[in-house]
This record gives sequence, structure tokens and C-alpha cells, in this order.
Amino acid sequence: MKFEINLTLLLYLMAFTPKKSMMKRICALSLVLMVTSFFANAQFVQDVVNGIRMDSLERKVSELSGEVFSSINGISSRIINREHANNDLALEYIKDHFEALGNITIEDQSFNAGSGIGRNIIATQTGTVNPDNIYLICAHYDSVDDYCADDNATGTSAVLEIARILSQYETQNTIVYALWDQEEIGLRGSNYYAELASDVANGGVNRANIIGVVNMDMMGYQNQVADDNNFDIDLNNAANSEAIRDDLLALRTIYAPILNPIVVQPGTPFSDHKPFWDEGYGAVLVGESWETNDQTPDYHQNTDRLSTLDVPYFYEIAKLVAAYTATKAGIVRLLSTDSFTDNELKIFPNPVKSVLNIETTINTDFNLEFFDVKGKLIKLLKLNSGTRNVDLSSFASGVYFLEITNQEKSRIFKFVKE
Ligand SMILES: [Zn+2]
Repeated sequence: MKFEINLTLLLYLMAFTPKKSMMKRICALSLVLMVTSFFANAQFVQDVVNGIRMDSLERKVSELSGEVFSSINGISSRIINREHANNDLALEYIKDHFEALGNITIEDQSFNAGSGIGRNIIATQTGTVNPDNIYLICAHYDSVDDYCADDNATGTSAVLEIARILSQYETQNTIVYALWDQEEIGLRGSNYYAELASDVANGGVNRANIIGVVNMDMMGYQNQVADDNNFDIDLNNAANSEAIRDDLLALRTIYAPILNPIVVQPGTPFSDHKPFWDEGYGAVLVGESWETNDQTPDYHQNTDRLSTLDVPYFYEIAKLVAAYTATKAGIVRLLSTDSFTDNELKIFPNPVKSVLNIETTINTDFNLEFFDVKGKLIKLLKLNSGTRNVDLSSFASGVYFLEITNQEKSRIFKFVKE
């Protein structure tokens, strides 16, 4: 579905629009706008799916499962093990990847559910139209042994890869990318999060509006003899779980037609979607097909390695979850498409001591986002068309990036705060 179809449809609708009354014209116009945004979104979803890269997924699995060294906080390191008492390096790897993205805030969420401190990483991409509507995609990053590529470097890598692409877009709804700790010792990280989200402590007064949860756990193995591309969607009847299943089934026909879905209902309770069911949220598990006896024979052993996985199959499931997330989040636009010219926009002085000035020939409001050198959002503000300076005296000394955007364009400036 491309824009050509969209325009043809639009012209068709306009040609047959009754011209009798203003009301009818307005109705027809809003229909055209709905159709237009539907097709625009379909094009964006296709762009997101096209952005997911098989080599990028494979590299992440390889790094997370300790097959190769990776750069973590600038230091070459090898993640030999991700058992819950021993997975801080994997956690730093995950944080490092989120910090490199714009448009995302990161929470390092500590909890103690009786087996020592656990740490979830919660990365949030806030929606600009309905920030309270949340879609959550997740995976556990802890393991039971060395390597454990399938369980669950695959799900973890898929979450990171989808975030890498989707964070380049402005979305209507909020997306939460969550990586759980202590799954292997009783779903502790996800349970902690789900109880907090549903505000169990206060009887649900400030319950978060999580509309859809997709959990990815073990999504890289299939029996090469069968080679049937079976994958499972596990659900029960909690909240809107069945609607999530239906969305995934519909999107599969468009974005991952090679996959063969097996619906398992009631599905397994043995992964991180379960605590969301318990709190009355709609959630599904997506992964390789245990239902058709097509799961890894290396389960929970140090023989669960990248070489045993079917990477092209894993890539298809990751694309499907990317399509689901992009569709439900409702993409508004690609960020940073067109850049302001030197004439249109500049900042001074640089280095800056306290007040940063913005000189521009354009008379619009601007959104300003300040990031530190690691890409972490420090400050976010809107400058209306009268104001053209920002007080940065509270900023620590160092190097920063400032992304300035309006409706049409954007530009990133690097500056030094003295
Ligand atoms: Zn697992």
C-alpha cells in the first residue's frame, strides 16, 4: 500500500462527494482524512518493517549471548553469562543501546522480590497525541546458564532492534520497551512492573492504561527438518488479549506471510506475559512453536547457542512484532526528515555560559530537546514564536546535543556548556 493508491482513492472519493450540503462535504472530507491517515500509517509501518535488519538482530544475539565481544560504555567486553546474580554487564549493554537513541527516556528499575536486587530496564517513547495509551513490548534478559542465545537473547535483541527503528518516528500513543530481570526464578521483574502499573498498592487508583503487551521469549529456533515456519501466539481471555491475537494474525498476512501461526489458547503461563494477565491487562506471548514440538532441544543448557538458531525465521517474527507495535502506536511522522539551513536557524554563543540564543528567520514555535553525549534526554521545552533564548545555567559543564524541530523541519546542534 503506497501513496499512489492513497491519492487515487482520495481523488475517487472527491469525485463522488455529494456537493449538496456543507455538512455532507465535511463528512466526506473527514472520511477522506481518515482514509488518508490510514494509508499514510500503512506506509510508515512498511517503512518500519523494512528498517528491521537481520544482520543487526544477529549481531545483537551474538553479543548478548557472549559469542563475541561488544562495546559497552566504550569498553570492549564479553557478556559471558546473564544469570540473575551475574547480569549487570548485559544490563549495561541494554542501557547503552537505548541511550544511543533519541526520543526515549530510560528507567533503571530496581526491585527486591526476595532473591537479591533485580533490575528491569524500562525505555519509554512518549506518544504526542495520547500519551496515557501504552503499548508494551518486552522480553527477559536474564538466563539460567552461559550463552542461552535462544532463551532469551533473541527476545531481548528483537526489543532493541524494534526500538532502534521505531524511535525514529513520532507516535500518537506511548510505546514502552521493557527488558525484565529474574524471569527464570519466577517472573519477578515483570511481576514487579505489572503490579506497580496496575497500582495494586492503592487498589488501582492510578492504574496505567496498558492496552497491549507483546512478550517475546525464545523466538529463534525451529527444527530444520520440519522447516514449517510455525510460531506460537499464546494467550488467555484476559482483557483484550484476543484482540491482540487478531491484530497479529491480520498483520502477519501483510508483513510476514511466510510465518505459520499456531494459536495456543489457553497459552502457557511460564513467561513474562503472565503477570499482565493477572493484573487484567491484554497480553500475548510470541515465539517458536512449543505447541507443535518445534522448540529448541538445548533449552536451559549452555548448548543453546547462536549456531543452533534459524536467524531468517527469527527475523520474520521480529518484523511481525515491529509491524504490530508501529500499527498500534500510530505513527505521526518521521522525525528529523528535513534539515534547517544555516540561514534559517543557528544557535550562539558556543561555548555557552548561561543563556543560549536561537537566531532564526522562521516565525513558528519550536520544540527543543537537549541530549547529553550518550543520547539521554536532559531537557524538553517548547519555544513559542516570541521567545528565542533558553537559560542553561543549571546544566553541568560538558558537551550536549540540541535537536530543534517545528512542524516541517529539524536540526541537531552540538554545543559546549562551560
Ligand atoms: Zn525464557
